[in-house]
Amino acid sequence: MNDLTFGALGLDRAVFCNLTYSEPTPIQRESIPHVLAGRDLLGCAQTGTGKTAAFALPILDLLQGAATSGRPAIRALVLAPTRELAAQIGASFQGYGGRLALRTRVIFGGVGKQPQIDALRRGVDILVATPGRLLDLMNDGEVDLSRVEMFVLDEADRMLDMGFIDDVRRITAAVPKKRQTLLFSATMPREIRALASRILRDPIELAVDPVASTVGPVDQSVHFVESGSKLRLLLDLLSGDGIERALVFTRTKHRANRVARDLEQAGVNAAAIHGNKSQSARERALAQFKAGELRVVVATDIAARGIDIKELDTVVNFDLPNEPETYVHRIGRTGRAGAGGSAVSLCASEERGFLTAIERLIQKPIRVHGGRAPARRAPLPQEPQRSRPSGRASSAPQEAARSQGGRRRRSGSRAASRY
Ligand code: AMP
Repeated sequence: MNDLTFGALGLDRAVFCNLTYSEPTPIQRESIPHVLAGRDLLGCAQTGTGKTAAFALPILDLLQGAATSGRPAIRALVLAPTRELAAQIGASFQGYGGRLALRTRVIFGGVGKQPQIDALRRGVDILVATPGRLLDLMNDGEVDLSRVEMFVLDEADRMLDMGFIDDVRRITAAVPKKRQTLLFSATMPREIRALASRILRDPIELAVDPVASTVGPVDQSVHFVESGSKLRLLLDLLSGDGIERALVFTRTKHRANRVARDLEQAGVNAAAIHGNKSQSARERALAQFKAGELRVVVATDIAARGIDIKELDTVVNFDLPNEPETYVHRIGRTGRAGAGGSAVSLCASEERGFLTAIERLIQKPIRVHGGRAPARRAPLPQEPQRSRPSGRASSAPQEAARSQGGRRRRSGSRAASRY
């Protein structure tokens, strides 16, 4: 089965024989042949669509096909906004490329530099990095990017949100001009379009819809509840049969800590992950969650970015996000690559405006437990019809996400420190 499908995209068997998947996802089908043909790519897709393999498989294919002798040089550079995402991308390269003579290394901040320096000195073919630590090591003279042939920017909109865009520009300036560049972003705010037009050459543009098609059926519902009753409601939900393992989102680190502590006190195995936790504490919590030792992880948006847990059945929005695109990112954590999942939102009266903005973005009402209060039943404002650029596999919600991203995202980096 694998032979027919991944092989038909032009990949060498050695590159896809380690896969456990039976067929490529839409983003993989659309992008792999173009990447193999050497084209630049602008991919509008979020985590959960299979985009990591969409770039990792052809990169492995191209690099193994043009092996160099002597000590490896960095020939592919992948930038990711968070440590978790960088680690996951690195693990994907290592998993897919297990039979190839290519070395992948991951570098990110929050941990000691020396092991990363030692690994770089031994030689690396594929480097996956977060921008801050990479620049740091570049300034130390430990990273040579002069041989980079393939450059990937993953989750570019999050890099913008997190204030990394200047770092990204500096790193881009250190990579050879003659290269292949792939840029992925869940939304396309104006700044990302501008960056893309500067760093990509005649790119193929692809878009896949994270909510409706590729992420699988996510059952979305909302409970209207007063703020002070959210914890009780969450405990009620957890005591029912429906939720095996849940990722719970709160607005701030402080609330994440409090909710995790209250859950623990109520007898639910839970941990919080957010930017104040050490890397090892975050990794430990994720490993326990994956192993089924923790039933709930409470997270802020930035900490949860890129979390890939196949068994995750439920995402709970303990607090609704004030940016509707964030809701799309959050619910993309469940129902991954075709599996079903559910997203439950707890909406206090002061959050009703956020709910309206989310429903406008996803262009459908979210099912209300216990019925919707009549006063709230104002019709959803109509989005103006946008014409779809020709030749793109786009979707209405994704278009809306893209068009609204630029306006809403600008507040993101200002608020980031609380998360
Ligand atoms: P990503 O969007 O790269 O974060 O991938 C999301 C999840 O989908 C990961 O758990 C991958 O292992 C999984 N995945 C990637 N490609 C496929 C595929 N062709 N079929 C099924 N699952 C996949």
